[in-house]
Amino acid sequence: MVMWRLKSCPRCRGDMFIGKDDRWFQQCIQCSYRVELKLLEDFEKQPKRTAVHATTKG
Ligand SMILES: [Zn+2]
Repeated sequence: MVMWRLKSCPRCRGDMFIGKDDRWFQQCIQCSYRVELKLLEDFEKQPKRTAVHATTKG
């Protein structure tokens, strides 16, 4: 199952999907901006404090 977050990319406002390898993350399909999710629960609840760690280069 793939979950989508439409127009939620902070970079390009593109569509992001939720995935999991070692941990949960959401990634933009358009610019590949990736955000790791501490807890999927945090994502589902959509907390007011959006404290996410973004791993970007450049
Ligand atoms: Zn993007």
